[in-house]
This record gives sequence, C-alpha cells and structure tokens, in this order.
Amino acid sequence: MPDTPPAVPNFTQWPSFPFEGDLRVRQLDDPVATEPHRHGEGGRECIACDAPDEAYIWADERWRVRAMDRPTGLPVVLILESRSHLDLGDLPNLLAAELGVLTVRLERAIRSLDGVSRVHVNRWGDGSAHLHLWFLARPYGRLQLRGTFLPLWDSILPPIPEPTWRENLALVAAWLADFGGRQLAEPTRIRWQAPASFGAVEAAEHAESAEHAETAKETESAEPARTKETRLS
Ligand SMILES: [Zn+2]
Repeated sequence: MPDTPPAVPNFTQWPSFPFEGDLRVRQLDDPVATEPHRHGEGGRECIACDAPDEAYIWADERWRVRAMDRPTGLPVVLILESRSHLDLGDLPNLLAAELGVLTVRLERAIRSLDGVSRVHVNRWGDGSAHLHLWFLARPYGRLQLRGTFLPLWDSILPPIPEPTWRENLALVAAWLADFGGRQLAEPTRIRWQAPASFGAVEAAEHAESAEHAETAKETESAEPARTKETRLS
C-alpha cells in the first residue's frame, strides 16, 4: 500500500486557524498498550492537591479557582478545580450539582469583564487526574478567535498588560466571593502621581511603599509556578 499522507483538512483554511503556509499532517505513532499515568495517579504527585490556597484566586470548602502564573494573550484564563482529588465522572451528586452552578457563575463573572465577548469552557483531563475545567475569555470583536482554536491563540497573542490581568482576576474573585468562599486575588494598587503641592519627601515615601507592594506581589505570584507544559492538559 502506498504511504500517502492524509490530505490537510478544511479547517486549515478557516479564518480562525492561526497558521498559514504549507502544512502536512503529522504521522501518527502506533497506539500504546498501556497509557502513562497522569499527574495525581499511579504514585505521581498531584499538583492540585499539593498547591496551597494562596496559589488560587478564590476558594471555598469544596472548590478552588486558579489563574496562570502570568498574563497570557486572552483577557483571562481560569481553571476551576474540586478540592477533593476526584475526576469528573467520580463526582458525587452534591459536587456534580455544585459544578453546574459554579460553571454558570464563573462564566457569567468572566463574561461581565470589559472587552470579553464569550467564555469557552473546556475539560480535557489528559495531563492531570484531578478534575479541572478551563475557562477561556474570548475578546470582544476578535472574530478570528471564535471557536476551537482559541486556546492556541492564547499562546500566540502578545500577553495583556499585567495591571489589566490582575484587575480582571480580582473582579472575578470578588464576584465569586459575593456568593461565598474567599477572594484571594486582590485589586491592583493604583500608582498615582503625587500632586506638585505635596512635599518631595512624602512623594518619595509613597513611591517606596508602592515599590515594596509591587515586589511583595511579584514574590507572591512567583509562588504557584506553573509551567507552560501543564497548561491545557
Ligand atoms: Zn489531586
């Protein structure tokens, strides 16, 4: 039999497909007899179970929501996790019902942010055995970002400004906390300019304290170091 590669599918011509030029379909490997363990199974450490609440933007007794460790191309990308080490199909009825309520709540919170048109909700679960749902905000007016390829565009687009990102996280966390749980992401400190009538010393003091706050925040955000490889899995 001739080993002709399969034709490139039609979606590569869609305006939402992020790449252009000559493409080939990758050769498929042979299927493995036994799949490797994911994080959190077969003795592999569970990143979610090991992470403290401070690595999250919001938490309650049974659920936690976390962000990436730095801004990405989309206005906000969040992950909803159960606190218990369970996968989707293992959820007892109480958690299954709460998952529905929280999914709706989180979608609405993210959609209420300025400049967000749609929220894509995904669950893959190939990287970690601990339940985690992805929420990706699609910027308003960016029609090319509609649909399937949004997670790819997230890595392609230039990162959004950090203050905007932090503000978005704080707004979503505050929205969730209105219903219960703890808001862990705080709004960005406003770095205002001291008016000319203020003494130079006062202005210098303010600048210094703002600097400290910024450094503290950076240290905090460096804490839940998530690698790119753990994303979208
Ligand atoms: Zn776990």
